[in-house]
This record gives sequence, structure tokens and C-alpha cells, in this order.
Amino acid sequence: MSTFMFYYSTYLFGYRLLIFFRGRNMIQTQMNHKELITPNTTAQIYNIIRSNGEINRMDITRLSGVSKSTISLQINKLIKLGLIEEKTPPDSSQRKLKLQIRGDLGFVAGVFLGITKLSIIIFNLDLRIECEKVHYFDSISDPEECNRQIIQQLKDLCRDNGIERLWGIGIGFPFPVNFRDGKPDSPPNVPLWHDYPLRRIYEKEFGCPVLIDNDVNVMALGEGHKGCTTEESDFLFVKVGTGIGAGLIVDGKIYRGAKGCAGDIGHIEVDGSNVRCHCGNKGCLEAVAGGKALAARATEIAAKNESPYLKELLTRNQQLSAMDINNGAIAGDLSCIQLIKEAGTVIGSVLAKLVSFFNPSSIVIGGGLSAFGNLFVGAMREAVIRRSLHLATFELNVCISELKDKSGPTGAGTLIIDHIFSSQEFTSTIKRNLRAG
Ligand SMILES: [Zn+2]
Repeated sequence: MSTFMFYYSTYLFGYRLLIFFRGRNMIQTQMNHKELITPNTTAQIYNIIRSNGEINRMDITRLSGVSKSTISLQINKLIKLGLIEEKTPPDSSQRKLKLQIRGDLGFVAGVFLGITKLSIIIFNLDLRIECEKVHYFDSISDPEECNRQIIQQLKDLCRDNGIERLWGIGIGFPFPVNFRDGKPDSPPNVPLWHDYPLRRIYEKEFGCPVLIDNDVNVMALGEGHKGCTTEESDFLFVKVGTGIGAGLIVDGKIYRGAKGCAGDIGHIEVDGSNVRCHCGNKGCLEAVAGGKALAARATEIAAKNESPYLKELLTRNQQLSAMDINNGAIAGDLSCIQLIKEAGTVIGSVLAKLVSFFNPSSIVIGGGLSAFGNLFVGAMREAVIRRSLHLATFELNVCISELKDKSGPTGAGTLIIDHIFSSQEFTSTIKRNLRAG
């Protein structure tokens, strides 16, 4: 064989090998493409329509990355099930039909318990408010009695509005919750709630899926759904009330951490503080800047006669609350203004550390003390900017919750509706609620 023939046959052999492996890769790619078309595709397309409000087929194809023919099949399936409908555009110049989910097909409940206040909102599947109510408790220390009342209030609200059944219930409770088990975990001020089988009780009572989470996580989710951060997927929600806690939204979802207690910032040590906290440590953030701590500081100031406003209130009412400080600041009392600014600065110094670590696009301040308003949030913003990297803060938005009291029940509703329409739950949700499924 000549040298030329040797090289030529080696070249041909190599080229054939290349064709062979390319062919295998193509078959593999086709197989992967086939694997994509599973029942999950139906859930994926339903959720694209659900999160976009109204959308045409071309945009669904673009957002899903699935072929046009698959989209067509899945849309027909969803229309047949009654889950979505085609909407004729009012303007004849818009030729394309739009798809939307049928919100009126079912209902979920968002339940939110505070220390004394219960808020319930019933949403349709489009997360529009159907009806709502508020109920007050003298005390929530007895879980049996408290949950008996919550169940009764929820049943009454459904009955009064002609709602026969719920597709799911999301509940936010004001203490640490083991999300996976649906049980409270060592709540500091209400010990009888520890390990109380909350999720099981509600699932048995209402016969639908139930998710239980802590108050801050559901508030964060609510704010992300309808509040000032609807376009953002990485932000921090900070609840400032008697306690202080944070909810982390990462890539549009709650980040709970390894054991579910991510965001428990109330016990981060504040530099240079010696104040004793109920947890046994000294200098915890909520022991310095939480509602109770501020009321105690106001009482000290009144007793020292440093604020005529607070002194007069203390003499009249025998005690002071954080809201008295707010009213004092509005009335122009300098001590009250100073107290609010100091609390904002202390919280801001802790938030600065979180900003450097997490780089959120926004920090949303909620909870009772958000009523302190711009004076409070302005001091936080200043401390964050002073103590974080420029790159992390130059577009950082620090704002007050837009939803206020509604962030909790809205987030609880969002939590359960995202769950029942997730890829894992979609088929059983349809089977459970629609005969056609
Ligand atoms: Zn502590």
C-alpha cells in the first residue's frame, strides 16, 4: 500500500467514526427531547399561563422551550379538563387568541395567625380575593382551643360565601415551624404548641393538602407575589415587631436552609450591646431594637424626665408601647424621633452584613414597627449603604411592605397554590378536584 493510500484509509476510518458518534448523539438528543414530554409538561404549561395572566400560544412556546405540536396537544388537554379557556380579544385588530386559567374553578385558603389576630383570605385559583375575615384572640397559648377557633372561623367563612370545598390551605404561624413535618418546633413563648400535629389536624378536617410555615416566610412570599417586589426573584423580607426575623426569597422561592430556620436574624449579636435577651444571650438584635425593647427604652426615658410627651403618657396609662413612640415622633417629640432613628440604625447595621453576604435586589420592611415609616427605614438604608459594598447597594431598594396586613394571608395562599400545581402534585390535584381528570 502506498503511503498516500494508508493516510487516505485512516482518514476515511476516522470520518466514519465521527459520523457514527454524531449519529448516536443525535439519537440521544431525540431521546432526551422525548423524555421532556411527560405529565410535567402539562403542569409546566398550566403554570406559564397561570403566572402570565393572559398569554398567546406563540409566547407559551417561547417560554416553555417545547415544540409547537406538544404545546397544542397540552393546551387542548387543559381546555378539555376545564382548567384553562381561550379568550377572544375585544379588539379585532389583535388576531391572536389569548389563553387564561379558569380562576373560578376552585378555591384555596390563606390563613395567617399573629399573636392576637387571625386573618383568613379565600382566593380563587387565579389568586384573586374571593372573601376574607379577621378574628381576634385574647391568647393563643392553648393550641387546642386556638385551632378549634381557627377551624370554625374558616368553615364559617366558606359556608357564608357558598364555598363547599377547598383545593388547599396554606397557614402561617408566629413561631418556628418544621416545614417538612408541618409541626411547630420549640416556640419560645407558647410551649404547649411544640410538636403539635398542625398539618395532620387541618388535612383531616378539610380533606385537602395543607402546608404550614412560619409567619415571616409566608409574608415574604406574599410580598413577592403582589407587593413591591413582584418583578424580583432575590430579595429579603424583614419583619420588625416584638421579634425580628427575615424571609429569604432566592430565585423566586423561599430559602429555608438545612433545618428550616434560615432568616432567624433576631438573635444576631449587635456590636457593643450588653442587653440580656430572652434566649439567654446578650446583645441580640431583637433585645435591642424589637418592639418590647423600644417600649422599655421609652419607659426609661420617661422615668428620667427626658421626654415630656412620654412622661405624660406613662403617668396617664402606667405603661408605654412601641406605638406610643410612633405617635410621639409624629407629634415632634425629639426623644421619640431619636429612638426610632437609633433602632433603624441598629437594624441597618445587621442588614448590611446580610446584604454583603446575600446581595438582594430589595429589602422589604414589614411587621408592626414598619408603621414608624420613612424615618425608620431611612436610618436603616443609611446604615446599610455606609457598611456594605458599593456594588451591592447602588441599586438596592429598601422599602416598606405594600401589602401590610395582607402580606401574611396572601403569602399563605401563594404557598399552597404553588404547591398543588407543582409538577409533583399537578396530576393528583386534578384527579382529586375534577371528575374529568
Ligand atoms: Zn437572643
